[in-house]
Amino acid sequence: MARESVYCKDNKWFKGNLHSHTTRSDGRLSPPEVAEIYRTRGWNFLAITDHDLYSYWEELNTDDFIIIPGIEIEVKIPKPWHCHHIVGIHRTGRGARHLERIAPPEGIEAAGAQAAIDNFQAENYLSIYCHPLWSRVEWEDVSELRNFTAIEIYNHGCERENRTGLHLDHWDSFLRRGVKVWGVATDDTHQWDEDYCGGWIMVNAPQLTVEDISKAIEAGRFYSSTGPVITDFGLDGGQVYIECSPAAAIHFVAFESRGKSFYAEPGETISSAVHNLRGDELFVRAEVVDANGRTAWTNPIFFNR
Ligand SMILES: [Zn+2]
Ligand SMILES: [Zn+2]
Repeated sequence: MARESVYCKDNKWFKGNLHSHTTRSDGRLSPPEVAEIYRTRGWNFLAITDHDLYSYWEELNTDDFIIIPGIEIEVKIPKPWHCHHIVGIHRTGRGARHLERIAPPEGIEAAGAQAAIDNFQAENYLSIYCHPLWSRVEWEDVSELRNFTAIEIYNHGCERENRTGLHLDHWDSFLRRGVKVWGVATDDTHQWDEDYCGGWIMVNAPQLTVEDISKAIEAGRFYSSTGPVITDFGLDGGQVYIECSPAAAIHFVAFESRGKSFYAEPGETISSAVHNLRGDELFVRAEVVDANGRTAWTNPIFFNR
């Protein structure tokens, strides 16, 4: 049986960050300065997502670098240090107004967060649930949320600020309940220190346009990384396979039956692995960890069982 990749061979790969701030909210650098950091380091796209301010700085686009239109919204949770933050990524950049202030929806807690997600959907945005560990949200604070595109599994800014960037529990909890939501790594850069270019996604899309990048994200045709490269991931009959840059470990994470981990011999590396499905999986996803502990995460493959 032929391999069925989750990626499209005819597509290209584009590297980008979906979450960043500038002097237009609480970032230290201006939009052109932030764009320059990413463009000169080889990023292909950058979403500028200032707080409560929709923006689309398309004048900063070059041949191989584009700005993605976006905003970050806060919904209150009336407990100290608790909040819901949701990034909206506009699917086209058309029909919304550059530098328009957008107030958070009425409502607090999960109802307010769901309203924010629903407003984004109605206005042609993708929505990303941000930094749950930093925001102090427990599973019961988010468990009812639906119809959002992705959740941050790695937020580089939060990780650097106080070690609250890496969080996969809520993601897996959604997946185990059959809620199809993708995992994203972002920077959430504020330029308070070198809090940029630490977490990104690699998008498998036909062209570097806002529409193509948005569509690929919505379809889950991307992976997240803090270092490793994933070159292929998919199904081969009753197996799931992955190919990647030289790694110390490759993990297949599954539910309900358990997945499996593969490790390189000491001083060696592995760059592929295959896991035999047991037949009852709701989903399988993979993680690639290099010798320095840097990680790449695929999105899950779902099974209709
Ligand atoms: Zn935030
Ligand atoms: Zn932010």
